[in-house]
Amino acid sequence: MRKNIVIGNWKMKINHQSAQKLIDDMIAGMPSVDADIAVCPPYLYIPEVGQRLADSNIALGAQNVATHSEGAYTGEIAAVMLNDFNCKYAIVGHSERRANYADTDETVGLRFKQALDANIIPVLAIGELLEDREQGNTFDVVAKQLNAVLDFVGIESFKNAVIAYEPVWAIGTGLTASAEQAQEVHLYIRQLLAEKDAQIAENIQIIYGGSVKPQNAEALFAMSDIDGALVGGDSLSADSFLKIYSSFQK
Ligand code: PEP
Repeated sequence: MRKNIVIGNWKMKINHQSAQKLIDDMIAGMPSVDADIAVCPPYLYIPEVGQRLADSNIALGAQNVATHSEGAYTGEIAAVMLNDFNCKYAIVGHSERRANYADTDETVGLRFKQALDANIIPVLAIGELLEDREQGNTFDVVAKQLNAVLDFVGIESFKNAVIAYEPVWAIGTGLTASAEQAQEVHLYIRQLLAEKDAQIAENIQIIYGGSVKPQNAEALFAMSDIDGALVGGDSLSADSFLKIYSSFQK
């Protein structure tokens, strides 16, 4: 049986003081929910946030990971470095990295593999642009992004991975895919994986991202193939993020 999970992506939208307060507020308000929860701070705050989370059930993640394990890669952070701070997850292929930092299907595959090789669970973000959806290409785009990584690392590597379906038009825009729109793509992703390995497809957590809020979380989580959420904006408020997390209970 799959466990649900919510992952907060703080992006570059927080400072040192507000990161400390956010974690303290989350720990103080943590409800008892039988689901996983994680936060992805900016790299710089990972050591301190990790220390604050040490006795909590909140796991730590990174927003990205380098394509290589070491070397002359100025400004990059290797998966093994994240290991030193007990990072459990690393987001790879976020649409903001694809759009603004030239991440490609190929580099996303390299990042995915780097994370796995360091025993970090990659959270593979895939999703279509608005024009892709309008032109009826959603499934093709999602399949291309997923297959690029699958072909590179193999289906076995998805035993320890999370997939985040994030329609780009819904990220940070306040527009959310309807629960039915999201479910349709999640089911498609699961079916693609099932063609290679039914058990892995059944077990993998496929989470939705794109303006998830307390108001829409419950409907999304009620869908059979939506196993949680990758949350940007609303992960910056302990109250909102914990309400989203609590929506599994309902
Ligand atoms: C994200 O950045 O992955 C995201 C889903 O952001 P938001 O929740 O703000 O749309």
